[in-house]
Order: sequence, then C-alpha cells, then structure tokens
Amino acid sequence: MIIPDSTAPARTAGPPVTRFAPSPTGDVHLGNARTALFNLLLARRGGGRFLLRIEDTDTVRSRENYRERQLEDLRWLGLEWDAGPGREDERGPYRQSERTALYERYFDQLAAAGAVYPCFCSPLELEVSRKAQLASGRPPRYAGTCRELSAEQQAARRAQGISPTLRFRVPPGERVEFIDLVRGPQSALTDDIGDFIVRRADGAAAFFFSNAVDDACMGVTQVLRGEDHLANTPRQLLVLRSLGLAPPEYGHVSLLLDGAGAPLSKRHGAASVRDYRAQGYLASAILNHLFRLGHSTAEHGLLGLEEMARAFDPAHLGRAPAHFDESQLRGWQKEAVRHLTPDEARRWLRDVLPAGLDERPASAFLEAVLPNVELPADARAWVEVVFGGPPELDTAASGFIRDAGSGYFAAAVRGAEASGNDLRAIAGAIRTATGRKGAALYMPLRAALTGRAEGPELAPLLKAIPAGQVRERLARFA
Ligand code: GLU
Repeated sequence: MIIPDSTAPARTAGPPVTRFAPSPTGDVHLGNARTALFNLLLARRGGGRFLLRIEDTDTVRSRENYRERQLEDLRWLGLEWDAGPGREDERGPYRQSERTALYERYFDQLAAAGAVYPCFCSPLELEVSRKAQLASGRPPRYAGTCRELSAEQQAARRAQGISPTLRFRVPPGERVEFIDLVRGPQSALTDDIGDFIVRRADGAAAFFFSNAVDDACMGVTQVLRGEDHLANTPRQLLVLRSLGLAPPEYGHVSLLLDGAGAPLSKRHGAASVRDYRAQGYLASAILNHLFRLGHSTAEHGLLGLEEMARAFDPAHLGRAPAHFDESQLRGWQKEAVRHLTPDEARRWLRDVLPAGLDERPASAFLEAVLPNVELPADARAWVEVVFGGPPELDTAASGFIRDAGSGYFAAAVRGAEASGNDLRAIAGAIRTATGRKGAALYMPLRAALTGRAEGPELAPLLKAIPAGQVRERLARFA
C-alpha cells in the first residue's frame, strides 16, 4: 500500500486515474453502469488507468454474492478494470473491508491532530435531536453534544460500555470551494455542515472517510459519480485536507430518470444490467445507449469502447437529468444485432436454435432471420416456422393461398423438386405456369411456407427450411 506523501502537489500532470466504486448491495443497474462507463472512457481517452474498488465497509448491507455478480456484470459489459479485484497491485487491496489497517493509521493521524472526537450519542438521542431541529425549521445536523467532552467524561461513558462513533470536527466559519468537472464552481459553508461520522461504532470506516482516503491513496485523479454525492464532496475535501492528502477532481453526473421522470433505481423497478442481459440485450447496445445519456456527442453510429473513448468529452456531460428510453435502447439493440458476426450470432441465439443444428441451415437461418430480430424471443418464433412442421396459416396467408389456387402450387412443387429449393427456380416455374409477377407471384409462396404474409427474405429462408419440408408445405395446396 502506498501512502501518499502529504506534501505532494495536489495533482501530477500524468495520465488520468479514474475508478468505479460500487457498494455490493445490489446488482449493477443502468445508472451505475453509466458511471462506470464514463470513468473508464475518461481514463482511456487520456491513456490512463481505470480502477475498480469495492466499497464493502457496511457489513450489514454488503453481500458477497452481489460483489461477484457486480464483477461479472461489469466484465460482461466489457468494462474491464486495469487494477481492482482479481488484478491487485501495490495500491490495493481493492476491497475496503481489507483496508482496515490503512484506515486505522489515518484515524490515528486525525486523532493526533484533534480533528476527530468520540461521540457517545445513541441513535435514539440523535433522532430526537434531528426531529427537534426539523420542528423548529432548522436543517438537521449533529448538535455537537460530544464535541467538547473532557477526557474524564469520555472515560465515564466508555465505562458504561458505550462504543463511540468517531466524528470529524468540522472547522467553523470556513468556505469549502471546488470546481466540479460537470457543474462548475461549487462552494459550501462549514457552518452548514454538522460534525459527521468517519468511523462507526462497530469500528468500520464510514463512507465520507474511506471513499476519500482511498481515492487519494490509490492515486485517483478524477472521480465521475452520481449527482447524489455532490453534497458529500465538501466533507470529503475537509477530511483529505486534515490528512494532507491530495483530493481528486470531482464531477457529478446528472441522475438517470425513467420515462415517468422518477430516478432510475432498483426501488422504482428499474431493470438491472443483468435483467437486460437475460432478455438478450447485447452489451454493445446497452453501452451505446448509456454513452449518449447525459453526454452529447456528434457520433451517430454504433461505437466500440475504443471509439467511445476517443469521442468522450467530460465537457459534454450535461447538468440536466438524463432520461433512459427503452425504445432508444431497442434502436441500439437492432444496430448491435446487425453488427454481430455469424459466430457471435450463433452464440447469442444458442438457447433458441435447435440443438445440433448443422452449420449450413444455421447460417441460412441467421442470414434470413437476423434482420427481423431484436431479441432472442423474436428469433424463437422463426425457429418454429423454419424448423417445425408445416406452419398454421394466419388469415392473410389463407387468403393469398386460396387466391393462388392449386395450379400455382403444383408448379411450385415441380420447381422445388427440380432445383433443390432455389427461390429463383421455383418462382420461374410458377411464372411460366401462371403468368404471375411481383407480389402476386411471391406472396402465396411466402404464405404457404411460413403461414404469414410478412417476415424475413424468402431466398435465405428457403435455404434454411429442411428440403423435405419445403416440398411438403407447398404440396399441401397443390
Ligand atoms: N460506493 C459509493 C456508491 O456506490 C461510491 C460513490 C462514489 O463514486 O464516490 O454510491
């Protein structure tokens, strides 16, 4: 572990170091994924490093399985970290629960400087004080009850068996200022900030402390995070200043809202990355949508991560809330499906394609069907049409077939038998026999083969349908 030299300049001119710092209290939702993406892009565009840190000091809310799921989701998205869990380096460990010794040293340093004091107030006392302040129209903040306890008073409370929290002594009458990368100049009065907890009663480091200390110790230069942390920043700057540690630059990105304008969070039923993955959304579709949420860019096409890194500009992060739009995600999904290689497409649809399907019909199927597919569920219906028995006819299909008559289909069967299911040969045979052209020529064929009046292109579809099936489907109406 490297403890930065407290006399170090505030920032080196080296490449950026950014990080994503999730708490393992739930699955990665789209808002977190966007934060992770922006941080990764900020690092990559400057040839820097992207770190992953697990903020699991809250042992009550943190869950081991969420940690694993978060890592898996980030990897699935392609948001690989340069250092973090599974990729430790000398700045680690990258799990806060393993950094206790480091925190203890900094708690000692704060205590030696008189910057912290033990607080023995019970949760009930704090709640009563909070309510009283609210009732008298004041914003609630710690009343300072334990701020000036003498050593004897502290000893007496310890003797009663009370485990204290550790509070940071916020200096009165100062202004904390910083330039937010997204929101510009910010300022807060320390008189508006109550003394806050840096170590909980169970000894665990609290967020304001561990998050700030770790950013400094890990050499993080820029932090992009949710707007909900904006009000925490002055406190974190105070902690770092007391410790003589260099703060990162902070940028607070606007929240993601759903279509109804509610914050996108698990509580409001927003889907996690995992949910979208389970529906068959592709990582690149999700990333391309997130890239444009609250970040304006002139790039219109489907971008890979390297291209996104080149096009990413933190100056183009908006202050207004961004709206997640399922239909736009669908649009990117369509694009992403169009860009799949045949191998990727087969892998993506492996749960939908019939087991043991040969290469040729599989390729023909994908070629025919992919342009009409956004999600695997769409492909499922076409698997049934292509590889199942003769399809049932919908009303429109029945109409076309009735109108075509049996001569049409007798010619079609002959064409199919002679050519081995070649569309041009079948169509040629029908044209010769019936004189039909255009839609009148092709629609009854489509109707008999697929049971529907619309769908993927016929020529590749014909190559995908097993040979005997083509004949059988046409012969039904001959
Ligand atoms: N663990 C915090 C969170 O998940 C990190 C906040 C930050 O990025 O600084 O909200």
